[in-house]
Amino acid sequence: MWGLPVIVILKHGATEDEKGHIIERLASLGYGANVSGVEQTVIGAIGMLDRDRGTLVEGLSALPYVERVVPVLKRYKLASLEFNPQRTTVRVGGVDIGGDTLAVMAGPCSVESREQLFASARAVRDAGATILRGGAFKPRTSPYEFQGAGEEALRLLAAARDEFGLAIVTEVLDTHDIELVARYADMLQIGARNMQNYSLLREVGRTRTPVLLKRGGMYPTIENWLLSAEYILAEGNSQVVLCERGLPPYGDNALRRNVLDLTAVPIVKSLSHLPVIVDPSHGTGKAELVAPLARAAVAVGADGLMVEIHPNPEMALSDGPQSLDIPAFEAMMRDLAPFAAASGRRLSAGAEVPA
Ligand code: PEP
Ligand code: MN
Repeated sequence: MWGLPVIVILKHGATEDEKGHIIERLASLGYGANVSGVEQTVIGAIGMLDRDRGTLVEGLSALPYVERVVPVLKRYKLASLEFNPQRTTVRVGGVDIGGDTLAVMAGPCSVESREQLFASARAVRDAGATILRGGAFKPRTSPYEFQGAGEEALRLLAAARDEFGLAIVTEVLDTHDIELVARYADMLQIGARNMQNYSLLREVGRTRTPVLLKRGGMYPTIENWLLSAEYILAEGNSQVVLCERGLPPYGDNALRRNVLDLTAVPIVKSLSHLPVIVDPSHGTGKAELVAPLARAAVAVGADGLMVEIHPNPEMALSDGPQSLDIPAFEAMMRDLAPFAAASGRRLSAGAEVPA
């Protein structure tokens, strides 16, 4: 059974009455208590409701004879591996993320034109990738930069899905656009800037469209990332995929835009049942770093990749410097094969998985 333990450590000299008071308080919230300790009393308790646990920890900490109250285990529950030891597979259109097959999402940063999107989509399909990405609503640092083509871009994505048989992932920036984006997309991307936009997380949690949750926000710790996933899961949407996309660099910005944190992959795998993919495009900001980091991501156990490509990166309206042209993307996919095989994954559905 799932439990949310707390440990209450009493100060030296706490009386039996004081001890009894704490046990009663725990019992009133449905917590069973286990008392131990000779010099100093330690009460271990297990209860069920995270909401109650927060209040309980603060309330008990206020008592003068309590030395410390320690909440054990995680502040997230539905996202945790303890809660769901069977790993989750998320189905996006006809594509599974989290199974034996490496899920590769690729496409332009922004949808710019039919020609640009279709040339990218053809390359995605021909290289054996299965999900097409493309931004329709773009979170740009400057309000004067290209903001995305909006619904026209969504229509083009839907047309590319029909033409090339790919699933579609695209970002939703605002709660007002969720219904519109979900009408076209197979997966809703929550961008790094919105990882801690809790109203947006709640609203995508109320849909039944799979969500790609990028790591970011003001405090992009792994715990906060999983708590953000918890917001979506707690609203009833169980289809969440996490995406590591790099953290701000330490200063050598000319060499890389972000620092890709590949340690996050095995760490998240040890904490959560949710699939985790890696975006080496935003994770590095440099086209020449994308393929090596993609191979490394697969080697550390990522369930998939998200990569930006463009038929002509020089002319891209956003993120050209980190976009692979089509030959470079084909080469990346070819070079991934031995890494996928070594990690026990197929590169595309139907290929052999080594024993
Ligand atoms: C993107 O995928 O184009 C994007 C804006 O990503 P991020 O939110 O990771 O910056
Ligand atoms: Mn981009």
